Amino acid sequence: MGLFDGVAGFGVTFSTMFRKVVTEDYPRVKKVTAPRYHGRHQLNRHPDGLEKCVGCELCAWACPADAIYVEGGDNTDEERYSPGERYGAIYQINYLRCIGCGLCIEACPTRSLTMTNEYELADDDRQDLIYDKERLLAPLLPGMEQPPHPMRLGEDEQDYYVQGPEMARRRDVHDSTSDEIDISGAAR
Ligand code: SF4
Ligand code: SF4
Repeated sequence: MGLFDGVAGFGVTFSTMFRKVVTEDYPRVKKVTAPRYHGRHQLNRHPDGLEKCVGCELCAWACPADAIYVEGGDNTDEERYSPGERYGAIYQINYLRCIGCGLCIEACPTRSLTMTNEYELADDDRQDLIYDKERLLAPLLPGMEQPPHPMRLGEDEQDYYVQGPEMARRRDVHDSTSDEIDISGAAR
């Protein structure tokens, strides 16, 4: 062992002592994530408020951690939650299992399931970390209506999927330039 080997061992220690100290002031100052950070999931809605989830379970099959549980239900004309035949009657994500890989959102055929930048997913109760559909659903925006209700964008399915988003966009532009517009009549 050389004369300076013992001192060399402290090289990292000494070089670190003179570096700028990084102190996170969390939770008072929350860190801004990268735009595509994989945080808490969200179940999205169509512009009239109906749910995009069709209960197909593809997200659950894609999940390597077995963190998603879905049970589909049948829509009826009297009780419609999504534009298709089926909707997600029960939807749960277990954040004790989720590893944030994003495979579920890649598998979703309707872009119902996406991930937000919200990263505060800690809790002292295991049960509270199983998020149900009500906690995962996107909030109702102005002009949206709480399901169940009929499809309200256009005259038929073609209108709903092709023209619906454009109608909603025009509505948003109109909303920002005037007080209010009622989409329910025009959209039926
Ligand atoms: S992000 Fe990955 S681990 Fe989490 S629910 Fe989706 S597929 Fe499963
Ligand atoms: S979130 Fe997407 S993939 Fe999962 S059940 Fe609903 S429609 Fe299917």
